Amino acid sequence: MSRHQYGDAIDLQVFDNNHDGQIDDDWNKMYAALSQTHPSYVEPMSQSGSGHLHLDWRNVSLGCEHEGAVFRASALEEKG
Ligand SMILES: [Zn+2]
Repeated sequence: MSRHQYGDAIDLQVFDNNHDGQIDDDWNKMYAALSQTHPSYVEPMSQSGSGHLHLDWRNVSLGCEHEGAVFRASALEEKG
């Protein structure tokens, strides 16, 4: 099950912000900035590609809201 269905993951699209025709450097800048938010896991570029950055907080308990997010995700899945 994807961490997105638990509500503790985000995917951020990476853009060529400095218009140098490369995106890896922009990915690394975002990675450096977002590491300060102490994610439990950051998908390495070798897996995610440089087009997006996946972070999640799988080791952080989100309490009742967390359970609610799982419930809502399951309900959406059942509806298709
Ligand atoms: Zn993701």
